[in-house]
Amino acid sequence: MFQLAYYEPQTLKEALQMDGVKKGTGKFLAGGTDLLVQIKRRKIEPQELINLKAIPELKGVQETGDGGIRIGAAVTVKGIMESSLILAGYPAMAQAAKELGTPQVRNRATIGGNIVNASPAADLVGPLLVYDAILLLTSESVQRRVKIEDFLLGPSQTALGKEEVLEAIELPALPAGTGAVYLKHGLRKTHEIALVGVSIALRSDGQGVIEDCRIALTAVAPKVIRAREAEDALKGCHLDDETLSRVAHIAEANCLPISDVRASADYRRQMVGVLTKRGLLSLGGSN
Ligand SMILES: Cc1cc2nc3c(=O)[nH]c(=O)nc-3n(C[C@H](O)[C@H](O)[C@H](O)COP(=O)(O)OP(=O)(O)OC[C@H]3O[C@@H](n4cnc5c(N)ncnc54)[C@H](O)[C@@H]3O)c2cc1C
Repeated sequence: MFQLAYYEPQTLKEALQMDGVKKGTGKFLAGGTDLLVQIKRRKIEPQELINLKAIPELKGVQETGDGGIRIGAAVTVKGIMESSLILAGYPAMAQAAKELGTPQVRNRATIGGNIVNASPAADLVGPLLVYDAILLLTSESVQRRVKIEDFLLGPSQTALGKEEVLEAIELPALPAGTGAVYLKHGLRKTHEIALVGVSIALRSDGQGVIEDCRIALTAVAPKVIRAREAEDALKGCHLDDETLSRVAHIAEANCLPISDVRASADYRRQMVGVLTKRGLLSLGGSN
């Protein structure tokens, strides 16, 4: 018979010393909105569940002192959506949180779970990529900082070590004048997993010339990816019609969508172009 022990450690140290962590038989539980579904479907059969939600180090959104912020991995999606620091400094994150699931899901689900679950359609990951997020991974003996881009390896695959927990996410300070946006497209307007998502962070000089641009594409590759060729094609340009169309086509070519019951690969690819153009226009393309 399938048996599951449940623990609620009160400190990070206590959590990392648990037998289930050492032996690899346990699973960290945050909101449970991905994990409990997987257990119910018998995709995984852990012997222990280690609830992370009481651990102080995994809570809260704080300023780091160098202009950036630190988000505890157990901060809920609702917490991301409503954080004044995130709304003011990293609006594409708040936007993505607002579009994730339903109110019930947003109340429980955490940013850490969204990252570690490593779905190609994870809403928070695109904005984290364009904001160049650093993940703080902690084991009993070592702490390391890894760029989110290097952490995500493929569907449900990450660089998280067997004895590591994702403790926090750091978002560096952004150069003045950087604007960012997350656009999600699904079959419905709410309660929908992304068919396509496009995140953009853009900075221009006073004359409208693009100095820096980062673009991340969601749900159109085995993991959320940066569209680097499209980014490079924008630098030094004005956002005129010709540039917008050229960059949208390059972004379409940068992705690797699949066809499934929800949409064809061709449709997803075209929507990457549409959302890329729309996102760039919303960030200052005057045409
Ligand atoms: C009805 C419904 C709708 C949804 N809609 C969306 C949607 O629109 N967009 C979207 O992106 N997702 C959606 N999801 C998926 C899910 O809600 C999110 O991925 C959520 O952010 C997962 O967070 P969680 O805290 O619930 O993770 P959990 O389910 O608790 O954990 C997920 C995985 O991460 C691991 N984990 C969690 N926290 C840590 C940590 N700090 N350190 C190490 N490992 C950790 C767990 O062991 C597990 O393997 C939906 C889910 C449901 C049930």
